[in-house]
Amino acid sequence: MSKPLIIALSKGRILQETLPLLAEAGIEPLEDLGGSRKLLFDTSVDGVKLIVIRATDVPTYVQLGAADLGVAGKDVLLEHGAKGLYEPLDLEISRCRLMTAGVAGALPEHARRRVATKFVNIAKRYYASQGIQAEVIKLYGAMELAPLMNLADEIVDIVDTGNTLRANGMEPRELISEISTRLVVNKASMTMHHQRLKPLVARLRAAVEARRVDQEARS
Ligand code: AMP
Repeated sequence: MSKPLIIALSKGRILQETLPLLAEAGIEPLEDLGGSRKLLFDTSVDGVKLIVIRATDVPTYVQLGAADLGVAGKDVLLEHGAKGLYEPLDLEISRCRLMTAGVAGALPEHARRRVATKFVNIAKRYYASQGIQAEVIKLYGAMELAPLMNLADEIVDIVDTGNTLRANGMEPRELISEISTRLVVNKASMTMHHQRLKPLVARLRAAVEARRVDQEARS
């Protein structure tokens, strides 16, 4: 028996949208992912296993070859850098926007802007590209609080409905990037396990396309 192919899935919000898509591609975990403390699961496809890890760890696992494939948000991939990964497929799920935001009605006063975010690399690149001097402060959560508490002038964060911002007296400002969930593949695996990887990627692509056709028929 050859080495199993490992697919690394991002825990949390993305996982809830990933599992139905994987099922539509015929890849189903053989037990309930939420039902145990296990992190490694067999699937309905012989020789394919799933691991469920923190979203920010997915690019690292795939880059270093500990997982052959990964499912991760474009925000996580942009922040990580994701060098040495192929990104063959947009899974078109968990869509959102990466934006700057600030206190509603207020414009940043400081020539040198203070920006709170967990996306430090993205923020540095974005403000540099706009010719704005920015001091980027790393936070791990509750970014919306930072401008209200005078910790920062702006934040860089994920916006979906905008409800979280509005509930905290903030408003979205500039769009940095449209985000969706992507399939990533380790480059060496793509070469070494091409025969097994190619049909898996094709099944996922077909599932994404079937959804698109279905959505177009409904609209
Ligand atoms: P909302 O209030 O709908 O704008 O949602 C914003 C919050 O939900 C953000 O602070 C994010 O942490 C989280 N969020 C929304 N969509 C996503 C997504 N696709 N991936 C990860 N986090 C998300």
